[in-house]
Amino acid sequence: MTFVLAGRNRKKLEEMRDILSGLGIGVLSQAEAGVDVEVEETGSTFEENALLKARAVMEASGLPAISDDSGLAVEALGGAPGIYSARYGGAAAADDTARYLLLLREMEGLSNRAAKYVCCIAAAFPGGNALTAMGECRGFIAHEPRGAGGFGYDPIFMLPDGRMMAELDAAEKNKISHRARALAEMKRKLSEYLKNGE
Ligand code: IMP
Repeated sequence: MTFVLAGRNRKKLEEMRDILSGLGIGVLSQAEAGVDVEVEETGSTFEENALLKARAVMEASGLPAISDDSGLAVEALGGAPGIYSARYGGAAAADDTARYLLLLREMEGLSNRAAKYVCCIAAAFPGGNALTAMGECRGFIAHEPRGAGGFGYDPIFMLPDGRMMAELDAAEKNKISHRARALAEMKRKLSEYLKNGE
C-alpha cells in the first residue's frame, strides 16, 4: 500500500519513510503525487488537525493519504506550545532555532522542565474511512541546546537518559520517537482495517 504524505516537511517525510519501509508501506510526497494542497490547521487538537490534512490530500489526489500532526507540550507552560509548535513565536520566530531559543527564554527560572513530544498520525481512504493513532515521547527541556540531528526542538529536548534528541542518529530516534510510536500503533490499526476488507 502507498500513501501520499500531507504537508511539505522533508524531515517528517524521511522519518516516516524510514519507519514504514520495513512494513511494505510506501510514502509519496505531495509533489510526487502531483498534488498541491495547503491545509489550514484550524483544529483544536493534534487529532483534528491530522484528520483535516489527511482528508484534504486524499480528496485532492484520489489516493490514500497519511498525515502527521505533532508538537511539543511543556508541563510548566500548561502544554504549550502544543499544536502551535510550528508557529510558536509567530513571525518574530522565523525558524526552528529562533523557536527553541524563545522557548528557553520563556522557561528561564522554571525548575519543572518536564515535557513530551506528541504525534497523531491520521490515514484517510478514498470512500471516506479514516484511522488515527497517537504516540508520545517523554523528556525534559534542557537549559541549553546540544546536538545537530533531527529537527525542530530536538536540540533542547533531553531524554530521560540525559542525551538530547538531536544527539541520536536517525535510526535511534526513529525507534523511540513519538512519531515511531504513533506509526507502530497505526500499523496495528491498518492491518486490522485491511484484514476486515476495508
Ligand atoms: P505540524 O507540522 O503542525 O505538525 O508541526 C509540527 C511541529 O512540532 C514541528 O514544526 C516542530 O516544531 C515540532 N515537532 C514535531 N515533531 C518533532 C520532532 O520529532 N522533533 C522536533 N520537533 C518536532
